[in-house]
Amino acid sequence: MSKFLSARFADLEAYVPGEQPQDMQYVKLNTNESPFPPAPAVLEAVNALEISRLNLYPDPECRALRQKLADFYGVKMENVFLANGSDELLNFFFLAFCDEERAVAYPAISYGFYPVYASLYRLPAAAIPLREGFRLESGDYCGIGKNVVIANPNAPTGRAISVSEIEEIVRSNPDRAVLIDEAYIDFGGESCLPLVGKYDNLLVCQTFSKFRSLAGGRLGFAIGSPALIEDLDKIKYSTNSYNINRLTMAAAIATIENNDYYAENSRRIQENRAYTAGELEKLDFETLPSQANFIFTRCRRMEGGALYRALKARGVLVRHWEKPEIADWCRVTIGSREQMDVFLEKVREILKEVD
Ligand SMILES: *Cc1c(COP(=O)(O)O)cnc(C)c1O
Repeated sequence: MSKFLSARFADLEAYVPGEQPQDMQYVKLNTNESPFPPAPAVLEAVNALEISRLNLYPDPECRALRQKLADFYGVKMENVFLANGSDELLNFFFLAFCDEERAVAYPAISYGFYPVYASLYRLPAAAIPLREGFRLESGDYCGIGKNVVIANPNAPTGRAISVSEIEEIVRSNPDRAVLIDEAYIDFGGESCLPLVGKYDNLLVCQTFSKFRSLAGGRLGFAIGSPALIEDLDKIKYSTNSYNINRLTMAAAIATIENNDYYAENSRRIQENRAYTAGELEKLDFETLPSQANFIFTRCRRMEGGALYRALKARGVLVRHWEKPEIADWCRVTIGSREQMDVFLEKVREILKEVD
């Protein structure tokens, strides 16, 4: 730390992204990326012509892409906000709607960025414990008079709550904003987007990074009431008005136009998820039911950190946290069948050695 850093940030603990090692080729099952490349039409859309226009700023309103998303989800362009990854969207949400009087609540075990933003903006924050089996009890968020941020399905557990449970949370906190982070909704969950027309305090946030194979393009979006979108715009135009670059915009439009390709990939991921959980079961693992493109799993014969390190030594990366409540567990991204077979083979090898 230099002597120039504002004292406000002296104690700030920054978010730690999953490892992106550049030293060797790993079977990468640690950051929930898609194992599948973007659709062929995306490669064609990000072409020489588009690159030749990089001397010009992109459309700050992102009209073409917002309209595409609006048509796809059956809402109006005024309901759609775009961000440089949903991480930026979360940043804008915390900045726009939370303050000393408007505290924020989120699950104590969830996406690691939520507490970082709360700390960055020095917000009063309630980290609400999960229940038995890492289950999220929607009643814990009803009528609490705080802004609410919930990942559904939750990360890193993979568990989801129902749309009617979400509706109860939204309905019972009418004077506070509720953000539902649906980063993983396209892997078998049920989206709460239909509630947006009914409640002016609901913001549904999604990303192109997982289901849509575009993590490197950095694109997230939110759908909510026009007034909420206007508030987010105010923050965006006060920080970075050109937050979506031309190439990502072109890639994203082609992505929406090729939804079938991604739906088929998701079907394969869900199939591989069931297969992987089934095989792990035979190896004495406990795996939570998952609606996401990862599983949260625990070996009854080995501590989570030891398993993570043994896998890494064999070229397979998974995610592990030292946090005591989840130290026994690892989060494993579901990749291609071939990747999952390598993962399972390494697990069998490791277990043979501990026997
Ligand atoms: C991956 C993830 C994000 C971040 O997505 P980006 O669009 O890549 O910034 C947000 N929320 C959750 C719960 C995630 O898992």
